[in-house]
Amino acid sequence: MSGHTTFKVGGKADLMVYPGDAEELGKVICMLKDEGLPFLMLGSGSNLLVSDEGLRGAVISLKEGFRNIEIADELTIDCGAGLSLGVLVNFAAGHALSGIEFLSGIPGTVGGALWMNAGAFGSEIKDVIASVSFADSNGDLKNIGINDLPFSYRKLDVDPRCVVTGCRLVLEKGDESIIREKIRSYATRRAESQPLGRATAGSVFKNPPGDFAGRLIEDAGMKGVHMGKAKVSEKHANFIENTGGASARDIFELMRKVAAKVFESSGIQLEPEVKIVGEGLGPWQ
Ligand SMILES: Cc1cc2nc3c(=O)[nH]c(=O)nc-3n(C[C@H](O)[C@H](O)[C@H](O)COP(=O)(O)OP(=O)(O)OC[C@H]3O[C@@H](n4cnc5c(N)ncnc54)[C@H](O)[C@@H]3O)c2cc1C
Repeated sequence: MSGHTTFKVGGKADLMVYPGDAEELGKVICMLKDEGLPFLMLGSGSNLLVSDEGLRGAVISLKEGFRNIEIADELTIDCGAGLSLGVLVNFAAGHALSGIEFLSGIPGTVGGALWMNAGAFGSEIKDVIASVSFADSNGDLKNIGINDLPFSYRKLDVDPRCVVTGCRLVLEKGDESIIREKIRSYATRRAESQPLGRATAGSVFKNPPGDFAGRLIEDAGMKGVHMGKAKVSEKHANFIENTGGASARDIFELMRKVAAKVFESSGIQLEPEVKIVGEGLGPWQ
């Protein structure tokens, strides 16, 4: 899995499946259910910490069969869960549709962004969603409107055995050059504040209510602290960098150390934003 995650860590998965369409996905889900095998949905692996022992069961990627994108009507876009956010943002800009510029620079897929309710610069993906399509635990497809979707901070609280297959976005008419300028300004802000180009998974901890995990970590004196080859970023304290050859265990133990120090100095219990998966990494708390 180290080749499929932005942290560049993670042992072997037993099986990787790339369903080509919804029918194949449905069959895969049913087959795995019949065999009693678990599965993990993989987007771009940009919010995942996979253990060194790897993953039992199957990993399902929608990056081959679910990358459709089209204008549904004047202001709406339909797209597949395996599409990268960069392609989506660029497509919208090219059609002078505004509202998702904030997603530029998030290195995930549409499916991963919906699952995580990805957000930046004061907006979240839920703000621009009309509906999300899913395959349920029997492989049957369903479409759910925004009013019935339980989005919250970095979370879409649906049955964890559901698979997001795509969504409909509702945007606003804009001016392409202004949209592209906004995308450039967000990119500049990211480059100034985040260790881009390093092996990270973005923010490792959620921001506690009314505060910032990065500020608490910095105040706890943890910036630049190492565990093996994992290091708390000097540029953004809520990022952990794999400086080359880190194990998932290094990252996990560094996260625990950071959380313990923050608790000691502020009394605040940080909660991981990255999804910790696979065998071998002990429970978080
Ligand atoms: C440099 C950098 C900057 C980042 N900046 C931001 C930011 O500004 N804001 C932000 O919110 N995040 C940010 N992230 C984190 C990450 O990119 C987002 O959480 C992203 O939405 C994850 O998408 P993914 O496709 O990589 O999902 P993955 O990491 O592959 O998966 C994340 C979770 O979603 C589940 N999942 C993925 N696809 C599906 C699907 N089709 N159906 C059901 N479940 C699915 C996975 O099982 C897992 O639980 C950043 C990461 C990096 C490395």
